[in-house]
Amino acid sequence: MANVQIQLCGLIFDLLLIFFVLRHESVGLYSEKIFKQCVLVYSSCIVLDILSCIAIINDEKIPGFLVLLSCKAYLVSLALSAYYGFLYTYNDVKRLRENYSFQIGTFVVAIIGIIFICILPINYLYDGKDILYSYGYSAMMTYIVTILYIGSSIVITFVYAKQMNPHRRNAVRAWMLIETVMAAIQFIFPELLVVGFGSALGMYILYSELENPEVYLDRVTGCFSEETFKKYVEQEYEQKKPFSVIFVCNEKEWKVGDETEKRILVEMSEFLNSFAYSKLFRIANHDFALVYDKNEKEMNEIESAVNLDVIRQRFAISWPELSRSKFLYVPDGHITSSVEEARMGYTRNRDLFEQGEDMRILDESSVNQIREFNSMVVEIGKALEEDRVQVYYQPIYSIETGKFVSAEALARMVGTDGKLIMPMKFIPVAEETGLIEKIGERVFEKTCKCIKQNDLRNKGIDYVEINLSVTQCENSLLSTKFQEIISNHSVSPDEINLEITESSTLRSKKVLLKNMNELMRYGCSFSLDDFGTGESNLNYIVDMPVKLVKFDRSMVQEYFKNEKAKLVMSATVKMIKELGLKIVAEGIETEEQVNEIKNLEIDYIQGYYYSKPLSESDFIKFIDAHNM
Ligand code: C2E
Ligand code: MG
Ligand code: MG
Repeated sequence: MANVQIQLCGLIFDLLLIFFVLRHESVGLYSEKIFKQCVLVYSSCIVLDILSCIAIINDEKIPGFLVLLSCKAYLVSLALSAYYGFLYTYNDVKRLRENYSFQIGTFVVAIIGIIFICILPINYLYDGKDILYSYGYSAMMTYIVTILYIGSSIVITFVYAKQMNPHRRNAVRAWMLIETVMAAIQFIFPELLVVGFGSALGMYILYSELENPEVYLDRVTGCFSEETFKKYVEQEYEQKKPFSVIFVCNEKEWKVGDETEKRILVEMSEFLNSFAYSKLFRIANHDFALVYDKNEKEMNEIESAVNLDVIRQRFAISWPELSRSKFLYVPDGHITSSVEEARMGYTRNRDLFEQGEDMRILDESSVNQIREFNSMVVEIGKALEEDRVQVYYQPIYSIETGKFVSAEALARMVGTDGKLIMPMKFIPVAEETGLIEKIGERVFEKTCKCIKQNDLRNKGIDYVEINLSVTQCENSLLSTKFQEIISNHSVSPDEINLEITESSTLRSKKVLLKNMNELMRYGCSFSLDDFGTGESNLNYIVDMPVKLVKFDRSMVQEYFKNEKAKLVMSATVKMIKELGLKIVAEGIETEEQVNEIKNLEIDYIQGYYYSKPLSESDFIKFIDAHNM
């Protein structure tokens, strides 16, 4: 009876696994469920194996049909184990998981196989010592079904290798390999009944690699992890289950010690975990997602909305030092169509919270914004690739000389339909995604090319102003890159003026100043754009080595409408002039405005009155007509 001892070892292995798996809370992923079923099927298989051995050994004391029944039960469970292994494997491949005819087909094959195993004849052999096995058509059918499913599982791990989680792919291969080796051993040495033990080993590999519930948990707080969030929500989408989410967005930086940080996170997670019908995930540094499975309870919407109020109050009271927590409520998870979009809803919205605002609801319109944003990202990428980013030039008039002495380079994107897309539409998206660096470089190159090819200086254009975004200024390689482009195009550096803006999002003033100083030493000059809008103040002019200040259209227009604004602007002009800087007034549209602005000590005018931004060829025609 030595061989039954090997089976018993396998069984103990499986029982231990069951114990470990059941000990932890499970998030309810489909793969977890199948794994549990696998362990159960495999354990039953070992139990039935042992029972059939006992029955065969004692066949003189037991009615014949019972012995045969126990053998068949074992064979059926063996075929089922192989089928479950296959089920577990293909479930990692989305394409197969969503292919119902494939699922039904493979299931039907298993059922037919099992029916044949049941009805075909079976024999068994026991030599009175060690050798003991069953044979006959029924056993042969079992081998066919088993080989079919184990083989298919291995094939899947190769054919769909790229779509599978690499851990799962490798674990499944190891598991199937062990099963095959053990089956071969048992086939050659029938006295060694090691198949059951092999499958238990395979289960153990899966458990330690993938299905250990702890891999789904966040180490600090013990709630579910970010990775689990993705899997869980993905499953909710696939199974079309209704759910709602409360995102708790805390400040990215907490200025508390490591220990306090951990304590607060644990406190928050304990509190958030106390709500029924929900699952808690830690999805970023200090952020949580509370997901409500609406199937579990009707009226769930009200439940989560009420809880939201409770949560907001608790956060304000318990963690006031971090009281700038924000809450993003998604009443219907299916408002977005994928996990990526849901995540986008969360990341984009958490950055869009306005001052004083602590709660937002993700509604249809914000989702549409996200979709527009995403399609704009794609559009920009394509436009860059297909060279559809163009530069328009708006002439700038000098009051002193009565001529057009400079121009501003303004980016335009040509849509696939040939229509122009304005910067308002794509610049903010490009800034948020970092694509602005590529656009900026393209605009810079094209402008240099235009200056050189048209010999703009000879046409009276002393320099061209080019907009720089904050992201570009923060790149320490900017100055080197631009110097290289200028020299490649043999442009004189003093023909380039770079416009910077004051921005609260500037993270490194040091890098900005380094770039500015290097480029100024090289010969370029700088101006301060958008002056007079919300973010600008006089201090910045003092700080920044600019030679020009550009008054924003909004401030200039206010000047024409409002007496107080007139006073403020006159005083501002005086101060800026005392600092020795020149001023451009933007957005001048009528002759009266031109005349009125001339009363101030303003040097240049840029506005529709003279010209809108023009394509390169129109700009050259314009300059030729006006400056000659
Ligand atoms: P900005 O740098 O302040 O550019 C001036 C904007 O005012 C231009 O809009 C121009 O067409 C518009 N403008 C000028 N005169 C008038 C006028 O009399 N009336 C009216 N209604 N508008 C006038 P545009 O070309 O749509 O550009 C908008 C903004 O997009 C720019 O403001 C700038 O911040 C940004 N931008 C444009 N091109 C680039 C670029 O290549 N890089 C970066 N980073 N930003 C750019
Ligand atoms: Mg500008
Ligand atoms: Mg401007």
